Amino acid sequence: QQTLDKGRIQEHQAEMVDLEDHFLDDSGGDAPVDIAVHYSGINYKDGLALAGKPGVARTSPLIPGIDLVGEVTASADPAFTRGDEVVLTGGGIGESAHGGLAQRARVSGQHLVKLPAGLTARQAAAIGTAGFTAMLSVLALQRGGVRPEAGAVVVTGSAGGVGSVAIALLAKLGYQVSAVTGRADTQGEYLRRLGASDLLDRAEFAEPGAPLQKRRWAGGVDSAGSATLANILSQTEDGGTVTSCGLAQGHDLPTTVMPFILRGVTLAGINSVTAPQALREEAWRRLATDLPLELLDEMTQEIALDGVFEQAEQILAGQVRGRTVVNLGAD
Ligand code: NAP
Repeated sequence: QQTLDKGRIQEHQAEMVDLEDHFLDDSGGDAPVDIAVHYSGINYKDGLALAGKPGVARTSPLIPGIDLVGEVTASADPAFTRGDEVVLTGGGIGESAHGGLAQRARVSGQHLVKLPAGLTARQAAAIGTAGFTAMLSVLALQRGGVRPEAGAVVVTGSAGGVGSVAIALLAKLGYQVSAVTGRADTQGEYLRRLGASDLLDRAEFAEPGAPLQKRRWAGGVDSAGSATLANILSQTEDGGTVTSCGLAQGHDLPTTVMPFILRGVTLAGINSVTAPQALREEAWRRLATDLPLELLDEMTQEIALDGVFEQAEQILAGQVRGRTVVNLGAD
């Protein structure tokens, strides 16, 4: 089978190689599920792994790919049977276990979700980790009591995968969305079509500001971290919630306790990799009903397996818009 084998961690980028199915023999734990993979995706983490950058691949050799969507061909886990269409995001695949950038996968059923009615395999892959993370962020805002009538919600990393899906979800749910982007000149029209009512230059947020600033946001979905997140926290209304899932600007957080102790702001952490199964199922159910699929299709581009190297470079350079699915064409 055509697949990717990451040979030397941190030193060389991945390469495309042919492997036999028995390469996966030790995968999937005690009750493995075998999957014919139809689609995978390219997330920021995949970009890092494919380019041989440290921090994602934790074992070698490793098939990268933190997402996969496909059909169960055999299962030792009683929760799944041959023919089930399934989606797996995170759960360690593409990091510590073989992932989705191959036509065959053998995984644990622990984080596997049956494809919800209403989504095609391609759409589920287009959602992938980035879209799933956006949904987890929206659920966290709702649990934090951020309601559409409370005021604008700010989204950072807007033209990226998490940001694009978050904007489409929030706008559909009736929120007024302000999109922070470094690409308003080329992606402004796209962001407005997704539902952003206001576009803000990310340069405005790039340097640390005062600990408390003018109140602007009822809530926020941040994938940038660093000064961007610090400024958003400082501009959030009393009792607001801001989610943090990413570090597109940096992993530091140059803030103070002031937004928390004087305005009661909540900072909600989002980790899609280890999300518990009940939350995964809730998020996928909600994605199937709340995400406008015509917008999802519009933000999705499709590539073949041999296109992943170029796509990895582009996502690391911040040049990819929305979501990229990889068609594995497995039967
Ligand atoms: P992506 O498609 O590459 O999008 C990232 C976006 O961030 C870019 O498109 C860009 O948007 C913006 N950006 C880039 N450099 C920036 C900078 N220096 N300052 C501010 N904004 C910048 O990546 P993604 O898949 O959406 O992931 C976004 C982040 O979330 C990554 O750090 C990723 O690792 C993380 N993530 C975490 C989880 C989790 O479970 N915690 C899950 C998924 C992703 P504009 O061009 O519009 O400015």
